[in-house]
Amino acid sequence: MDIKTYRKIDAHAHIGNFGGWAGVSITAEELIAQMDEYHIEKTLLCAEPNEGCLEAVEKYPDRFVGMVYVNPLEGQAAVDKVYHYVQEKGFKGIKANPLKHAYVADTELMDPIMEAAKELNIPVFIHCGHPPYSLPWSIALLAERHPDVKVVMIHMGHGHGVYIDASLKMARRYPNLYLEMSGMPMPSKIREAYETVGADRIMFGTDSPYHPAAVEAMKVATSGLTKEQMQDVFYNNCAKLMGFEK
Ligand SMILES: [Zn+2]
Repeated sequence: MDIKTYRKIDAHAHIGNFGGWAGVSITAEELIAQMDEYHIEKTLLCAEPNEGCLEAVEKYPDRFVGMVYVNPLEGQAAVDKVYHYVQEKGFKGIKANPLKHAYVADTELMDPIMEAAKELNIPVFIHCGHPPYSLPWSIALLAERHPDVKVVMIHMGHGHGVYIDASLKMARRYPNLYLEMSGMPMPSKIREAYETVGADRIMFGTDSPYHPAAVEAMKVATSGLTKEQMQDVFYNNCAKLMGFEK
């Protein structure tokens, strides 16, 4: 089956201009065009500042789901942002990137944000795979302290085999840990996660504009999963986590 025929939800993508080392950019319109081409019905979207994300969500409310980008170093202002964007603007989750903002993932500064996530019943998506701030063990320590909050390890270790392996190990240990596969190069690890972490705890994402949807979808397609299992990774698991109608 052609990868474009599978229904998909993109569990992690950005809009904006990412200069410097990355040298990539994408607009809301370009992302929608990619979604249309690859049968991605919805995208969990994040942007900094959050107003850029809100603008896109309000323009394409059926396609984009807002994720509040937090920086715990802002203290109470970060918590206020969570309540503002979730309660007043309809955002459905939190995105944190310890690498970008330079804090260790399990810093106690994350605790009030996790408490807010618990109260609002929304998941927290955390960039996973870069030392020293964004490693699976640190994210697991945070998840351990907040067992009632679902935590998604975005990139599930990213490009490093040891971190990928640790992401799976941590997710096997803590039932509130979930995995998202964008930027992670080994298709076999998608299947291993499906089989050993849980059939509903591994999901598809693109991390646009860093990786093309074609490449990310092909990793799922070459993972060795059956068509039905692939449909879980491409669509069902994220829909279940986020509480979307099928
Ligand atoms: Zn990302």
